[in-house]
Amino acid sequence: MAQRPYIVGNWKMHGTRAMLSEARAIDRAAERLLKAEVALAPPFTLIHATRKEASLIGVGAQDCHPAEGGAHTGDISAPMLKDAGAGFVIVGHSERRADHGETDAVVKAKADAALAASLGVIVCVGETEEQRDAGKAEEVVGNQLKGSLPEAAGMIEKVTVAYEPVWAIGTGRTPTVEDVGAMHRSIREQLNAIYGDDGAEIRILYGGSVKPSNAAELLAADEVGGALVGGASLTAEQFLGIIVAA
Ligand code: PGA
Repeated sequence: MAQRPYIVGNWKMHGTRAMLSEARAIDRAAERLLKAEVALAPPFTLIHATRKEASLIGVGAQDCHPAEGGAHTGDISAPMLKDAGAGFVIVGHSERRADHGETDAVVKAKADAALAASLGVIVCVGETEEQRDAGKAEEVVGNQLKGSLPEAAGMIEKVTVAYEPVWAIGTGRTPTVEDVGAMHRSIREQLNAIYGDDGAEIRILYGGSVKPSNAAELLAADEVGGALVGGASLTAEQFLGIIVAA
């Protein structure tokens, strides 16, 4: 890919202020590793502090509410994320789809809200093991894309897709490089069908058990523009190992 690989760490529900030292270490090293674009999505409670600690890397959130504001106890809106210093938000992660019953329509509303607040958005898609075994992986992911992607006229550069097979998340298992390439080619075709010529500009990240030892080969697969990293983004040592491999 002509663009720099985009390596995003998703801290999930991990991290108290003690972990800011990891963010700082990643940020310091990122200066020397400019061949990749690096970002972290810490929990909401650390967004502001991470933005203050880290000047080079991107800082984002892991979810937002579709509404700008209102009576939604415990929720966080896209404009609030922007105000806290976030530059992007992940939406439609399979853990949110599973834990909170988020449908494609909900994910799309969140993605639209993110763009309306001038945030970048990473829209996650991915099949379960049963769906892959049934030969339906590309169909499932295609339908998720059709249902979840935002209206992005004039803002296409703010849209990223992350392909994360549910069965590969946190399991240590990954698809073969061939399967990753085949899925990413299929996603690219869908993006072209949905957005026309603009579809070519969207980066497609791979996520699911990415670690320093497998990052180089996964990132070299067809149409892979970067990685969304969970467990291995929690320490600077592991995450920088992935960035170096990219
Ligand atoms: P993992 O998580 O790297 O721990 O598998 C990836 C993700 O869920 O974004």
